[in-house]
Amino acid sequence: MDKVIIFDTTLRDGEQAAGGTLNIQEKLEIARQLENLGVDVIEAGFPMASPGDFEAVSAIAKEVRKPVICGLSHASPNAVDRAAEAVKNAAHPRIHIFLSSSEIHLVHQLKKSQQEVIELACSMVTRAKKMVDDIEFSPMDASRTDPAYLYKIIEEVIKCGATTINVPDTVGYSIPEEFGALIAGIFKNVPNINKAVISVHCHNDLGMATANSLAAVRNGARQVECTINGIGERAGNAALEEIVMAIKTRSDFFNLNTGVDTTQIYKTSRLVSEMTGFIVQPNKAIVGANAFRHESGIHQDGVLKMARTYEIMDPHVIGLPSNSLIMGKLSGRHAFKERLAELGYVLDETAFQRAFTAIIALADKKKEVTDKDIESILAEDKRIVADTYHLDRIQVTCGDRGIPTAAVRLIAPDGEVKSEAAIGTGPVDAVCEVIDKIIKIQDVKLTEFTVKSVTEGIDAIGEVLIRVESKGTTYTGRGADTDIIVASAKAYVNALNRLIAAKKTEK
Ligand code: MN
Repeated sequence: MDKVIIFDTTLRDGEQAAGGTLNIQEKLEIARQLENLGVDVIEAGFPMASPGDFEAVSAIAKEVRKPVICGLSHASPNAVDRAAEAVKNAAHPRIHIFLSSSEIHLVHQLKKSQQEVIELACSMVTRAKKMVDDIEFSPMDASRTDPAYLYKIIEEVIKCGATTINVPDTVGYSIPEEFGALIAGIFKNVPNINKAVISVHCHNDLGMATANSLAAVRNGARQVECTINGIGERAGNAALEEIVMAIKTRSDFFNLNTGVDTTQIYKTSRLVSEMTGFIVQPNKAIVGANAFRHESGIHQDGVLKMARTYEIMDPHVIGLPSNSLIMGKLSGRHAFKERLAELGYVLDETAFQRAFTAIIALADKKKEVTDKDIESILAEDKRIVADTYHLDRIQVTCGDRGIPTAAVRLIAPDGEVKSEAAIGTGPVDAVCEVIDKIIKIQDVKLTEFTVKSVTEGIDAIGEVLIRVESKGTTYTGRGADTDIIVASAKAYVNALNRLIAAKKTEK
């Protein structure tokens, strides 16, 4: 069986999506998980775009050793050099250069002739090739490019040393039959095409990113660029989990495989959702909360008798944790430790103790503790450890006749205990007011507030996501608790902590 190379661009195209501002630690954590997932290539960022992007790509290149680490670059000597510098310590470095090829981009954006674009592309590939052997080239907006010109530019950049040719449907305009035919045309009309791998990069503007990618694969493409949960510019990119599970579930049709360990899919999806703040829609294929849930009585009856009657995939294959009772108040340390190991978590003794204490406290409140609760608690613990300001105590009163009032005690980075009280238009507003009074930061505006429950039931843990904006930059904060006002306070403190940390690294 032929292998399809999985090129993950969650950290580049995904993070480019509005609001998806990840810090270096978060990018590293996602990159480590992508390595566990078994992706072949990680596009870690666009080094020329910002110093933060450069740092992140360098850090990932140094630490994540199994996959190819790729840095994106536009067609300018400085950008190519910067990308090369960022990936130079990678075990397997790659530079990915893009340059528009469509008439509409050439005329209106680049103001260059077709010949000039070919020359520029070739000179950039040649320049990059002197520093890194593995070079990818993307003729941007390929799906709207005159095919005859596309063949020419591909042929020329391969001559200059490009080893992967990525054909992007940059604006999400293609239809599967058409896109498949475009790939077939490239194989037929580019004489030196056997010297490069054909890749595709499809956007989901018309909901066809996955279908277009798979149509390309059927026509010989052997690399697919995709993101976890399909995040990315506008309507997003092809979703990694859909591509991988389609190839696996329908191997009878594709006769292909990937190097992905599918049991890591769910965990990766949750991590990316958690870090970026992009919530996965419940009906999302593969990783949505309802993806394996049967509501119809007839379907339930069938699944109970024989899962295959209505389930085309086994939920264990994507590593979906069970939602059944697994821990009670009396379960004890040993059972918890075993469950953690089964879920793939390795904690040191102090982290284990903190998690265990939190689990027992939760079991006191809600009786049934599930795998999803455990994941939420571990995520919350990670945030608290990283925080500079800690929420110590909080008390809120509210009601239709009361004046929403919050009293909060925070522990500052230097250990000082600070208390304040404030009123607001509602409990969350009062909480944010009082935290603002303690952590005095100018120009902070709350732009988004989302609550979701981790499991079913009125006693479920609530996860709150808060985005704040300060001087044009967005910071995301998260918090979890069975009390959503407490979760909101944690999320707000977390967002401000991240703002403070970002300001510190700027200096
Ligand atoms: Mn893109």
